[in-house]
Amino acid sequence: MSDPDVIVVGAGAAGMVLSLPLSASGVKVVVLEQARTFAREFRN
Ligand SMILES: Cc1cc2nc3c(=O)[nH]c(=O)nc-3n(C[C@H](O)[C@H](O)[C@H](O)COP(=O)(O)OP(=O)(O)OC[C@H]3O[C@@H](n4cnc5c(N)ncnc54)[C@H](O)[C@@H]3O)c2cc1C
Repeated sequence: MSDPDVIVVGAGAAGMVLSLPLSASGVKVVVLEQARTFAREFRN
């Protein structure tokens, strides 16, 4: 992969809401996430 334009640290709500439109508009984005899986516990 070529060098990214943006590196987002953390695939939480903020990181993913930022990454999606950047990526969709052609910006090369890399997301670094420390967790191995997404949290799946129910929140209400
Ligand atoms: C128990 C609980 C219930 C909640 N319920 C609701 C709800 O019902 N409705 C609602 O709107 N909000 C709820 N919230 C709040 C909501 O989860 C947060 O507001 C939201 O997740 C914040 O998003 P964020 O992207 O800032 O942080 P996070 O979602 O915390 O994401 C940060 C990410 O960065 C990663 N990270 C951190 N440090 C590093 C590092 N050094 N390198 C790589 N990755 C890293 C973490 O692993 C994580 O995945 C709840 C929160 C909690 C704790």
